[in-house]
Amino acid sequence: SGPAGHTAALYLSRATLKPVMFEGFLANGFAAGGQLTTTTDVENYPGFPEGIMGTVMMDKFREQSIKFGTTIYTETISKIDISTRPFKLWRESKEDQEPDTADALIIATGAAAKRLNLPGEDKYWQKGISACAVCDGAVPIFRNKPLAVVGGGDSAAEESLFLTKYASHVYVLVRRDKLRASKVMANRLLTNPKVTVLWNTEVIECKGNGELLNSLVIKNNQTKEIKELSVNGLFFAIGHAPATDLVKGKLDLDEDGYILTKPDSTCTNIEGVFAAGDVKDKKYRQAITSAGSGCMAALECERWLSEHFAE
Ligand code: NDP
Repeated sequence: SGPAGHTAALYLSRATLKPVMFEGFLANGFAAGGQLTTTTDVENYPGFPEGIMGTVMMDKFREQSIKFGTTIYTETISKIDISTRPFKLWRESKEDQEPDTADALIIATGAAAKRLNLPGEDKYWQKGISACAVCDGAVPIFRNKPLAVVGGGDSAAEESLFLTKYASHVYVLVRRDKLRASKVMANRLLTNPKVTVLWNTEVIECKGNGELLNSLVIKNNQTKEIKELSVNGLFFAIGHAPATDLVKGKLDLDEDGYILTKPDSTCTNIEGVFAAGDVKDKKYRQAITSAGSGCMAALECERWLSEHFAE
């Protein structure tokens, strides 16, 4: 029920295919609507020049899906059988009842950014702490302020470089003595004068003034030195976990658990099963790219249905 699911539902319902959406009931730890329901202003989705709250945006997506004929159930699918057709789906806590069936299936269950669950993290979540620099980095509380990014992969490098546009300085907190990021990204990061990498460094606490984050307690895991770092922002870039428990062992996944799709397509290794959005994308992970792949899935699904089923 994120941008991928709703865009797919919109296209399928406008094509009079009467799609059914299971939007989930706190599935993967999120309200229906997915990761965007945990963010504040979305300013990088075209069409909303004033920005729009993530929750409001997802309400509008939902309204549009329903307007064109999507049936939405606020339930989580806990089990599927895609080994024979029609595909079978069981609703959570109703696994002993008759399953729902589907001729085609679009999996758009998303992903969740990994967090550290530090003391103070919940208190300052979205009040200085975020898991998406590209989404949240431009907001006023981060302007000309020192910021920190945790992680040493390509995301950490990319997000840190993005933040240098707004921050007075960016500290990258890397738990080892080397980066995981590709050479080119690592070089860009290490040569940027607004970036300082703190090696062998872990965050142990997030502190603030009650309203907003203003410092981190950090520890050098080699020297064991503990000190306070004044920053007004903390961004996690320690990877994402795709919501693929439902399809493990049933669909081909990559080494990180993301659904594998054919190149330039949303087709999975099972005919009639398509995947869209963050559940198959570990690179872009934006609302707009997710919506785009939802559109692709609907068009591919529609074509597949018309080739395999009579009117
Ligand atoms: P990665 O898994 O590649 O990197 C995660 C980073 O976070 C690692 O440095 C890891 O440290 C660190 N980390 C993990 N857990 C913790 C923790 N508990 N505490 C502190 N640090 C932690 O994830 P990314 O999101 O960076 O990238 C995912 C994939 O997407 C990769 O294949 C990447 O190449 C790709 N990508 C490509 C981009 C591009 O081409 N422009 C942009 C963004 C992503 P350690 O190294 O010690 O394990």
